[in-house]
Amino acid sequence: MILDDFLFIDDNGIYCKYGCFYLDPKIPVATAVISHAHADHAVSGNNIVYCTASTRLFMELRYARYAARTFNVMQFHQSFNIGGVQLTFIPAGHMLGSAMVLMEYNGIKYLYTGDYKLQPDATCEPIEWLKADVLITESTFADPAINHPDPIEEISKLKDTKINIILGAYGLGKSQRLIRMINDHAPQKKILVHHRIMPINNIYEKCGFALGNYQLYGRKLMKTQEEWVYLVPPFTFNSYIRATNARRFFASGWKRLQVNGEDTLFISDHADWNDILEAVRQVGPTQIWTLHGHGAHLRSHFGKDIFVKLLA
Ligand SMILES: [Zn+2]
Ligand SMILES: [Zn+2]
Repeated sequence: MILDDFLFIDDNGIYCKYGCFYLDPKIPVATAVISHAHADHAVSGNNIVYCTASTRLFMELRYARYAARTFNVMQFHQSFNIGGVQLTFIPAGHMLGSAMVLMEYNGIKYLYTGDYKLQPDATCEPIEWLKADVLITESTFADPAINHPDPIEEISKLKDTKINIILGAYGLGKSQRLIRMINDHAPQKKILVHHRIMPINNIYEKCGFALGNYQLYGRKLMKTQEEWVYLVPPFTFNSYIRATNARRFFASGWKRLQVNGEDTLFISDHADWNDILEAVRQVGPTQIWTLHGHGAHLRSHFGKDIFVKLLA
């Protein structure tokens, strides 16, 4: 029987009282299961953290000795037990090391997706599917109006731009995907990387994910007009608002208004409406519990076929 209170949200985050652990807690807790290293899922200061090997490396890079008191690193598909609940990490395809969390308890399978995507991405483990009774899905883009475009076509916007480019993107995950995509689909571009992004690239390469060609940014390099793409994190991007002789792009899963010649590369690392429907087909749940976003659209879409509960 599906336990309606298997997971619920309290002040710290998503709690499983049957195993006494949190999934991606917002506030440091005693036992945290962390799906991936993005800051809104992986906070510092937890006592015990269960995560994948690359998630640990990213957390240690960001938080140093405050990353966690103890890390329990688990391989994908390696089952482990917390307080009587059996857990297994399954690749989520969102960024390097990102995991869905399968929880099995009293013969029922609960699958927490964390953030996930279906689009191909050569810089992380591809998403894998399995059957579960309850699908606990992020629903950031669970809106029939949201349809992510082909990322390769978006990258082509860079190819068509014959002046230097300042490309803003989140440093962890998105930046590495972009470097790989520019190498594969716009190889005439030369990539310069902001120094804050370099140590993240190093972790990717250490984990066996080659990113292709790029070099550390140097001020003198960009004085020449050689189809440079300078990849910078968002805070630096904003400081280039008056850049002349360069065109600004920001890579984002959110449609943005065009401001001052700043264009968007609409490249998302999340599931859009059709991807979420595909996830439901693959997992075959009898219940869907939704997190962050638009659960109501899923509820009206599935009607009486699948019970949809809005967790948050
Ligand atoms: Zn994320
Ligand atoms: Zn997220």
